[in-house]
Amino acid sequence: MTEPALFPAGRSVVGFAPCASDPTHSRGRRFPEPEAPTRTAFQRDRDRVIHSTAFRRLVYKTQVFLNHEGDLFRTRLTHSLEVAQLGRSIARSLQLNEDLVEAIALAHDLGHTPFGHAGQDALHASLRSLAGPVDAEQDASGWGFEHNLQSLRVVDRLEERYPAFDGLNLCFETREGILKHCSRANAERLEAVEPGGVAARFLRGGSPSLEAQLCNLADEIAYNAHDIDDGVRSGLLSLEQVAEVPLFDGFRRQALDEFPQLQGRRLLFESIRLMLSEQVYDVIRTTQAALDAAGVDSADAVRRADPLVSFSLGMRAQSQVLKTFLLRNLYRHPQVMETTDRARQVVSDLFTRYLDDPAQLPDAHASARDSLQQRARAVADYIAGMTDRFAIREHERLFGRVLFP
Ligand code: MG
Repeated sequence: MTEPALFPAGRSVVGFAPCASDPTHSRGRRFPEPEAPTRTAFQRDRDRVIHSTAFRRLVYKTQVFLNHEGDLFRTRLTHSLEVAQLGRSIARSLQLNEDLVEAIALAHDLGHTPFGHAGQDALHASLRSLAGPVDAEQDASGWGFEHNLQSLRVVDRLEERYPAFDGLNLCFETREGILKHCSRANAERLEAVEPGGVAARFLRGGSPSLEAQLCNLADEIAYNAHDIDDGVRSGLLSLEQVAEVPLFDGFRRQALDEFPQLQGRRLLFESIRLMLSEQVYDVIRTTQAALDAAGVDSADAVRRADPLVSFSLGMRAQSQVLKTFLLRNLYRHPQVMETTDRARQVVSDLFTRYLDDPAQLPDAHASARDSLQQRARAVADYIAGMTDRFAIREHERLFGRVLFP
């Protein structure tokens, strides 16, 4: 195999690739603002994300393991930092815009509910239950909850920090990266208020920036690796079990070839380290080749092309096997499912109670809304913003039952 086209250590990157996103050619902010004197538009977006309330809450939100199950498990915050690290690393080699990658990576999970996917599923089901049978097929009515859409809602509307506008007023490019999936129905709703905006590509086709594509893949690389680590740390997975995954086993053997005495945690960490490195190199090699072949010469040409950031076919297949392994053995582990059930209960109980008795909500969320849908959305926003432990405390306060002793 030929050596990857990586920057040798110590060599600084001069300039950006022509297909990189350029902050001086940003499609701008929804509310025009003067440029900052010392930072680019993308640096400023990253900084706004870091200073947001939603970002600080990520520290107490579940990734896979509930926040109170142990101090060393990943939370949404440390996960987001790892995504940013991997994304920046790849971006620098490909001469893409690291600041934009970092802004998107740090913001990508801002819309997650407490308790990870269990919380999201429960909130979605609660909202859907109000929609009636007619809308059960699609979320065309606007009833429903989806964390990507909620992340966009956080940065566009829910953060209250600036005198002149709601939200963080981020650049188009950052918002485009945050909205990585979107149903057609939701895209139509977004398009109606922002014609030709971040949802347009879900209606008319096209790709997001390379930086956005990169964050998506960095997310996958990050969680596959750290969920192995957390899974073994929790005792729900054994190292031997993970070695059933060919991708992981290859790196475990490689580590043992070099360090035959290696075992336990150090063997685990070294295998994961090798796996992360190889996945990063694989993305760089594959993507550079795709960029060369496509001949894209601007960020706009990237948007007209098919997605260009990817694993090689071999790595894509191997990563899929690893994901399936984690799904079967970790995310659906009886012990994880049991906490998941209680987490769902907390979220759906809270939703019902707040909707029935708005006096239990803080004033900002309880203020009179015209329709049931608006009230339900306000309740969903409030619950989605909660940390795990705040949701648990609220549930105990309102129901007098301790679901998480
Ligand atoms: Mg993520």
